[in-house]
Formats: sequence, C-alpha cells, structure tokens
Amino acid sequence: MSSENPTAPADAALRRAAKPTIVYPASTMPRPDMAVLEAARRTMVKIHEVVVPPRNARAFRVSRGQFFRIVSIEGPQVGDLNLWNADDLSERFFSGKTRALHATHVGAGDRLWSTMPYVRPMVTISHDTLSIHDVIGTRCDPYTNLLLSGTGYDFCCHSNLSRALAAELKVEPCAVEHHVHDVLNVFMCTGFTKDTHQYFMKASPVRPGDFIEFFAEIDLLGALSACPGGDCSATHSSDVAACYPLKVEIFEPDRTTLGTWTWPSPSEYHRRHGTPA
Ligand SMILES: [Zn+2]
Repeated sequence: MSSENPTAPADAALRRAAKPTIVYPASTMPRPDMAVLEAARRTMVKIHEVVVPPRNARAFRVSRGQFFRIVSIEGPQVGDLNLWNADDLSERFFSGKTRALHATHVGAGDRLWSTMPYVRPMVTISHDTLSIHDVIGTRCDPYTNLLLSGTGYDFCCHSNLSRALAAELKVEPCAVEHHVHDVLNVFMCTGFTKDTHQYFMKASPVRPGDFIEFFAEIDLLGALSACPGGDCSATHSSDVAACYPLKVEIFEPDRTTLGTWTWPSPSEYHRRHGTPA
C-alpha cells in the first residue's frame, strides 16, 4: 500500500491526501424545529414507565407526539433499542442509513430514520445527557457467539429483543426474530481502532440519572434490551459482566404546543426503479 508499491498509480500520494467528501452533507438535511420540541417537553407529564431487567428486554408502545426516555437507574448499563412502526413491522429503524446521514454516534437534534421504502424520521432525539449512543454496532447475538466461541448463550440482546417482541405479539421468539434489527446502542462507548480498523468498546461512562430522550414522529412499538455486556468494558454474550436494569419513561405533552409540527410521511419516491412508467 506504500508509495513504493510498483503497482500503485503514479498519483497515489495525491489521492490519499485528498480532502474527504461528506457523502450526505448536513446542509441538505431537513432539520427538526427544536424550539417547538423544547416548548412541548416543558409541558410533558409522565404517563407510564417500564423497567427492563438485566439480561432481558421489554417492549413498549409510544404514540406519535409523545416523548420517551431511556434512563440509567442503578449502575452503568448499555441498552440495545429496536423501533418499529406500530402498525407495520416492515417499517423499522435503519441503523446504517442513520449512521450515513448523521454520524457514528448520535445525539440531540439527530433523528432515527426508518427503512426503505419509507425512509422517514421515526423519532427525533429531543434531549440527551451523554451523547454516546452508537449506530455502528449491530447487537450481540447467539449466532455470532456460537461462531466465535463455540458455546451457546440465550440472553444476548438479539434473543432478549426477540423474546420481548414475541411476548408483545403473543407468539414464539423464532416466529418474530427476523423483525429484530440493528440497534441504537444506547450509552455505548465504541469506535474503530486506528491500526486494524476493528470495532472496539470501552466502559460506558453512563451514570444513574443519565438519559436519552426521544420525540415520537410516528406511532411506535419499541423494545429495549439491557445488554449482557453491562457497561461493555470487557465482555458480552455471557453472564460474566455486572448488569443493571434500565428504565423507559413515556411522557405526554400539551398537544397544543405541537400545532406547527410537520409529521413525516413515507418517502414520495415513485418506486419504479428505472422500469417504464
Ligand atoms: Zn448486547
């Protein structure tokens, strides 16, 4: 790969030195009106809460226009979040496009986007005390664990989310696990190593009282897993790490404060994909 490589093009050094081009410039992104959300969140009252036990997950429902928080309550704990359109599970959180549109880690003002062919904001992050929430990881799962360690483990986030969704829909986990998707890794401190470019994790700095808060842009079914990795400082996919519960809190605002809000519709792309009209 060095410039001494005889197969390298003559302008290799010039190419490497080129300034990177941002694929999706923020200036073209439709931005949420955070002043409206600030006014709404000042009026909101808590209407429901769900405690997610360690190494487990719980499903919850949030109506369009409500806010919800994921709160650290007892100790440093990473959470794996899935979101679906409550009326159509085929529309779900699109981690990869959210990463491409925003960044490797998301925070207040960023949005979590839905899959094609919908591609609209499912939530807007309305408040955040930590700003360490990863959209580069996927979720711990028993298949990868078996591949790498040769052992079975049943309480990875993928399995926890599958059980929570199954309980909500009153079916078996294997019947719905295909709906479980790449997550928002809430409170997870991650990146890529400089030398080998591998995905790494470090102990989450989250402390009890920290939270991330979302504004629901559509009616949502959500599920949150308290990852068996705990603070994800050393290990996951086992019973080794110290784990703590997480809390989901749901809030109802004074709806008159949202009078000017533009609710997102599915993408207007015609979906002919190049075939004749
Ligand atoms: Zn996990």
